[in-house]
Amino acid sequence: MSLRAWLAATMGVLALLSLSAAASLVLLTSVLDRSASTLGDSVEGIRLAEEMEVGLLSHERLVRERLASVPADTGRASREELEAALRPQLDELDRLAATDKGHALLKSVRRDVELYLAQQRGPLQARVEQAGPPLDSALDGLERVIELNVVQARDAREEAARWNSFADRVGLAFAVLLLAGVVAVSLLLQRIALHPLRDISQSMRRFGSGRKRTRAPEYGPTELRDMARTFNEMANSLAHQQEQQLAFLAGVAHELRNPLSALKLSTALSGRGSAPLTPERMERTLALVGRQVERLDRMVGDLLDSTRIEAGKLELQPEVRDARELAREVVELYRSGESGHVLQLSLPETSVLVRVDPARLEQVVQNLVSNALKYSPAGSRVDVVVRQEEAEAVLSVRDQGIGISEDEKRLLFAPFQRAGNARQRAPGVGLGLSVARRIVEAHGGRIVVDSEPGTGSVFSVWLPLASVAARLPEVAPGPSSPLPPPEGTLH
Ligand code: ADP
Repeated sequence: MSLRAWLAATMGVLALLSLSAAASLVLLTSVLDRSASTLGDSVEGIRLAEEMEVGLLSHERLVRERLASVPADTGRASREELEAALRPQLDELDRLAATDKGHALLKSVRRDVELYLAQQRGPLQARVEQAGPPLDSALDGLERVIELNVVQARDAREEAARWNSFADRVGLAFAVLLLAGVVAVSLLLQRIALHPLRDISQSMRRFGSGRKRTRAPEYGPTELRDMARTFNEMANSLAHQQEQQLAFLAGVAHELRNPLSALKLSTALSGRGSAPLTPERMERTLALVGRQVERLDRMVGDLLDSTRIEAGKLELQPEVRDARELAREVVELYRSGESGHVLQLSLPETSVLVRVDPARLEQVVQNLVSNALKYSPAGSRVDVVVRQEEAEAVLSVRDQGIGISEDEKRLLFAPFQRAGNARQRAPGVGLGLSVARRIVEAHGGRIVVDSEPGTGSVFSVWLPLASVAARLPEVAPGPSSPLPPPEGTLH
């Protein structure tokens, strides 16, 4: 599982928990709000019913006082005011009533109050005598309204208390769940992400302190596994590079040693104190010295080119040349050699113009011809062919030598790569082809190999014709143009 998915899942669970807690709180608040409003309505109902009772009793007392001709108290409400307040109070009580029972009770109270008020419109004596039953019944009704409201208020209060304790439990449960969630998430985070991270950083530190065999364990979420894999790949590649550099140094030392020993021997033979050499012997010795010096020169040249290419500092001096001419020059050079090969040159009748740095292109073809001679048996045939294919010039070198396997082909153009059987066959450090490829690519061309082990190889250099090359920015710079920096580092 990836770290991102894992974090999203845990955050989702925590968010869900928080949302549920918030939803329950909203629900509980509205339930408590409803209980509080029922409680408020009941209390208001009780107050109104009591006010009505007081109003009715005051009304009746005023009627009696009038019969007894007691002078009206100016500070108190008049009979008409009391009468006028009764109906709105009943309406308000009706609005506040929450149950059918309450409405029915208020209906009977309203009937009794209306009856009482109707009697009050008769003669004064009759009013006092008849007022008793409907008034008592109205007061009884109001008492029952009060009781009903008291019961309602108590119920509402109990319900609120119940919900309150429920809310306490729910809140506590959510708090515990959230706490447990946070603890679980941090523990899992530690196990799933922090441990692999710690192991990776420890491996990096160990690697940095010189323990080059250290590799990071690849476990945990995808991202961290990728990180560990990338680090391991980098460590492997560094180790490989180091191995190659050591092998390269050993190779260079070995390759330098052979010509140097030959030179040492030659100078010893022709030096003072040794018997004078016959002219033929002297000629052979000089030829040997010449070949060894040439080998040394080529090796040092390849090494220099390789370092210049790696630094992006090899400069080209392009000019339009006939590819046939270049091929001819190289073949002439090698024909005079003593390899015992049959060197065949095959050229088209018309010129094949390419825009190249002639010295560099000759270097490439020389390398291909020299390899063809090195890696094929003496006396076998080596063909150098120049041809034109559509808008490209092709220079190919074919041999009947040891050939190259598919696996080796993949690494053939990388620096310091040598095929297994090449090592025993011929001297070399594995730089020529990598330098050749960079040079050809800098001319806007490509170099390809077609080979079969035991049968032979064909190396072909494809270059754009001069007319096409003139349009390519890489091939048509001013008097000199640096090679582009290499794509990769040394392997
Ligand atoms: P070097 O010849 O100094 O080793 P190169 O870069 O020229 O370096 O060649 C790299 C390797 O490619 C050689 O070591 C050899 O294994 C292989 N190779 C090149 N040319 C040929 C060829 N014509 N036939 C067989 N193998 C070849």
